[in-house]
Formats: sequence, C-alpha cells, structure tokens
Amino acid sequence: MNIVLMGLPGAGKGTQAARIVDELNIPHISTGDMFRAAVKEETPLGLEAKSYMDQGQLVPDRVTIGIVRERLGKDDCANGFLLDGFPRTVPQAEALDELTKDLGRELDHVIYIEVDEDELLKRLTGRRICRDCGATYHVLFAPPKVERVCDRCGGELYQRDDDRVETVANRLKVNMEQTEKLLQYYQKTGKLHRVDGKQPIEHVTDSILSLIRGSEK
Ligand SMILES: [Zn+2]
Repeated sequence: MNIVLMGLPGAGKGTQAARIVDELNIPHISTGDMFRAAVKEETPLGLEAKSYMDQGQLVPDRVTIGIVRERLGKDDCANGFLLDGFPRTVPQAEALDELTKDLGRELDHVIYIEVDEDELLKRLTGRRICRDCGATYHVLFAPPKVERVCDRCGGELYQRDDDRVETVANRLKVNMEQTEKLLQYYQKTGKLHRVDGKQPIEHVTDSILSLIRGSEK
C-alpha cells in the first residue's frame, strides 16, 4: 500500500499519519524524519542536505528526491509506505512518479485531509502562552479554566505574534496555492481522495482506512 497523505497545516495530518501506519503496519515517512535520518547516517545526500539547511537555505529538489529514493528503497518499505510532507510541488510529484516506477511500484492512494480556511485559522491561532511560567494553552483544544489566566501560576496569557491571524493567514496562503496545484495534478490520476478533516479525529481515521481497505477488495 503506497500512500501519500496531504493536508494543510492544522488539518491534523501528523496525527492521522501516526494512526494509519499503526493500522496498516507500514512506515510513516515524513520529510523531517527522512532528512534527520540521512544527516545522522551521513549519507552523501544527507551531508549535502545538511550544508543547505545549515546555511538556512532550501534543500534543492535533486537532493530531496534522492533522499526519498533512498528511503523508499529500504527493506521496511517492501509492503508499502505512507509519505507525509512529500511531494509538496508538482515537479516533486512528477519525480515521485518516476522513482516509484523505477522501484517497480506505483502510488495507490493520495489522501487529502480537507479542512476549510476558517477552521484552520481557528486551530492555528488558538495558542496562548503564560507570560510568567511559559505554560502553553489552546483556546479550543486545551483552554485554561479561566479565560486569559494561567491555571498553573495565575499569570496572564498572551498570543505570540507568529500565531496572529494575519501572520498565519499569510503563511497559509502560500501553502494553499501550492496544495491546490498538487491536488489538480493528482485529480487527473484518479488516485485522489478527499476526506473531511472537520470530523472528530477517530472518524477521519475511519474514513481514510475504509477508503484504503475498500480498494483492496
Ligand atoms: Zn503560568
């Protein structure tokens, strides 16, 4: 089962990835983990990636794709994989098609966890931090007992500039444009499934699993 999991920041992609790989017994391959492992193993591509990251630069596609190729060729991917965070762009998606073909396999499903922008903004801007002790809260997911007051020390809670609506909306916009293009690309392949990410976490997982399992019959 070769799967690509897609979702905008705040859509719950990481949470769902962890639940799905647990059920399907395939490795969860996230871009971050893949880079960290390649750097740690000091593979030539890992070292190259590191030199870009150390300079605060984007790792070029050639390097990223090479690292993905090495990762998907490992033994634990024999029964499949779940890719999380790759591909991000259409050229990367094209490269992934090529390299899966080289490995004698094919993507089975591309799953997009769909959450509308308003809901994403609510999720992504809800963090509050205590001025005094640094404890973190979330107005939706982990609210303090008393609004704007720290449970732990009674300090005042504030919102970081990074978490403000305007900042988050800007970050999201770039991501949404890129994602839209990628969705169009995968729409044409007939492998794309959209799952409603506003459902409770367990329901999202169930929806994804039934899509994947339904196709096996
Ligand atoms: Zn506090």
